[in-house]
Amino acid sequence: MQNQTLELEQVELDKIGNTNAEDKADWGGMLPFFLVHVVCLSTFWVGVSWAAFGACLVMLFLRMFALTAGYHRYFSHRTYKTSRAFQFLLALIGTTSGQMGPLWWAAHHRHHHLHADTQEDVHPPTLKGFWWSHMGWVLCKKYYMNYDERSIRDFGRYPELRWLNENALLMPFLLGTVLFIFGQWLEVSAPTLHTNGIQMAVWGFFVSTVFLYHLTFCVNSLAHTVGSRRFETSDTSRNSFLLGLITMGEGWHNNHHRYPSSERQGFHWWEIDLTHYLLKALSWVGVVRELRNPPREINTKSR
Ligand SMILES: [Zn+2]
Ligand SMILES: [Zn+2]
Repeated sequence: MQNQTLELEQVELDKIGNTNAEDKADWGGMLPFFLVHVVCLSTFWVGVSWAAFGACLVMLFLRMFALTAGYHRYFSHRTYKTSRAFQFLLALIGTTSGQMGPLWWAAHHRHHHLHADTQEDVHPPTLKGFWWSHMGWVLCKKYYMNYDERSIRDFGRYPELRWLNENALLMPFLLGTVLFIFGQWLEVSAPTLHTNGIQMAVWGFFVSTVFLYHLTFCVNSLAHTVGSRRFETSDTSRNSFLLGLITMGEGWHNNHHRYPSSERQGFHWWEIDLTHYLLKALSWVGVVRELRNPPREINTKSR
């Protein structure tokens, strides 16, 4: 029975790790990725407080916005314009997510749009399997060590973005440290909150980072397998209300593949797109500008 379980586990690992000779998961190299998950188990020991839970939600929300509005809609697709300072802020917060630097992320994503659901695509669930598209490719040395610099030359010319990209692993570590110090300070200055440094680091950094990983990965896996298709695009992208809700609008993925240059991904009022609402609000106060909409005919025609 135990042998059978081990064999089954090996088959699952092989599905992730051996889609072809080069696309192979590098388990040792991605040890930090697994450790972030394992540390979450320590919530049973460190306990929880409203302050720590609040920090988890704030860190999840803030960093998801930096990924959806920054890494995705700005750096990958240039769907609006902003200042160099806000561009850097989005990149800085995004880098604390442990999803590499903005140039790495956007270069891989541009490649996905160019080759979606073909053998060239890095993470097509239909051709390379669900788990490969969800997280296997991120664990592959060939992809996490490299990106096509030519495809992201437009942002590669900013030295501060190149610096963030090269020091991407330092940023999550710094965020965890800041949260730890903040928790230690709260323990002394506001003891009624019943929190401390380690609890704040575990909830604010580790738990929120794991949620952020898998919500982001769902856009590559679930948004190409589950949901409806309004547009007959050449890929398998789908729209999902639930995924749209929990990923701040990224679940309207079929809309997005149909018109990637649009800042708005929910094309109708009922297609909830939190990232769009926030960017719209930021445009009213002049932080961002020239948000690109889908052309009118895209909304009326479904093919
Ligand atoms: Zn896609
Ligand atoms: Zn995209």
